[in-house]
Amino acid sequence: MILFFFKKKLALNNTRYYEILGVDKDASHEAIRKAFKKFLRYHPGKGPDEKIIKAFYEAYEVLSDPEKRKIYDKYGEEGLTNPEIIKESDPFSFYQKKYFEKFVQLNISLEDSYNGGRKEVEYDRNIICPECKGNGSPNPNENITCSKCNGSGNITNKINHIILQNKCFECNGKGKIFKEICKECQGKKVQNIKRKIEIDLERGVPDKHRYKLPNEGDEFPGKENGDLIVEIFLQEHKDFIRKGADLFYECKISLLEAINGVKLSLNFLNGKRILIESKPDEVIQPGTIKTVKNLGMPFFNSPDKYGNLHIEFKVVLPDKLTGEQKKKMNEILKGEKFNVIDDLSKDMEKYNLEDYNESETNPHYRGGKKEDWKEESSDDDNKKVNCNNQ
Ligand SMILES: [Zn+2]
Ligand SMILES: [Zn+2]
Repeated sequence: MILFFFKKKLALNNTRYYEILGVDKDASHEAIRKAFKKFLRYHPGKGPDEKIIKAFYEAYEVLSDPEKRKIYDKYGEEGLTNPEIIKESDPFSFYQKKYFEKFVQLNISLEDSYNGGRKEVEYDRNIICPECKGNGSPNPNENITCSKCNGSGNITNKINHIILQNKCFECNGKGKIFKEICKECQGKKVQNIKRKIEIDLERGVPDKHRYKLPNEGDEFPGKENGDLIVEIFLQEHKDFIRKGADLFYECKISLLEAINGVKLSLNFLNGKRILIESKPDEVIQPGTIKTVKNLGMPFFNSPDKYGNLHIEFKVVLPDKLTGEQKKKMNEILKGEKFNVIDDLSKDMEKYNLEDYNESETNPHYRGGKKEDWKEESSDDDNKKVNCNNQ
């Protein structure tokens, strides 16, 4: 007969969080963040199923934190909720005075980042149960023998000829349990409360920036309070795309505006309405990018300096012209052509143009669709924005 001793639970659950986010166990931090952002796009704020949303936040909180992720990979969820396990099984490398960091997400708009200022963050915080003062029982000195293990602290299972001995989870291997558990915290020693805290955003604060608030995280008996980490999630703007300290704006103009010059008025990030004009008599070619200096984002940490605003002009030609209009256009443009065909031989092959369709492209040199060759798909948003110039 063989005897095995297991210090930990047999079925270690350290994959659920990865499954929730839909990423591999060796996923990079960037991939984890991307999965979370993708989820948020479909569930902005509070959705129909708060349980799913809560699970996502929980999974992200753990997997986005390198230290918590290490603990999770090694000990599963049990390791995160019950620091005793870590203390007992790995007394040196993981045992620390301070409780884990707590992660909170703060959604901000591009306007918030431009202007800076105070933002309120609400989060769930564990506090030491005021009823039992973190003991888990109103009378922590009154114990009874654990009925699960009959006081041995171990549970023995026999499978075929192998005897497995596991630590009893009812009493955490102590052999005894409280006679009475605290009704307020159900013996968990902590209670979960909603808490609000204010963050002072600097002007120009970027996406992914993390604010660390010492000791504002969870409480746990016998531990120093964990730190609170507030991570900035910069939301997409309807008009502007931020790239570093610069802003990009796409603007549709008519043929008339391209020829005569353009005036556009925008609601800017500082709350003001602004007017932008092209130079008089300047013809704007399709796809031209023009720059307004210092109308970009304030530099993060040097908010007296600014990036630039770049405006890309998309010239929209009229869909159809009447015969009369075409005649006039020909007169004005004097039949100007870049492509003049002179010697047309009889045996020349002839082709027709069709509309471009991305699904008809062959992005791989072997031909066929992108998915056929397992290339990395990018879910980056190359979202186009329109301007509402008046
Ligand atoms: Zn027991
Ligand atoms: Zn309690």
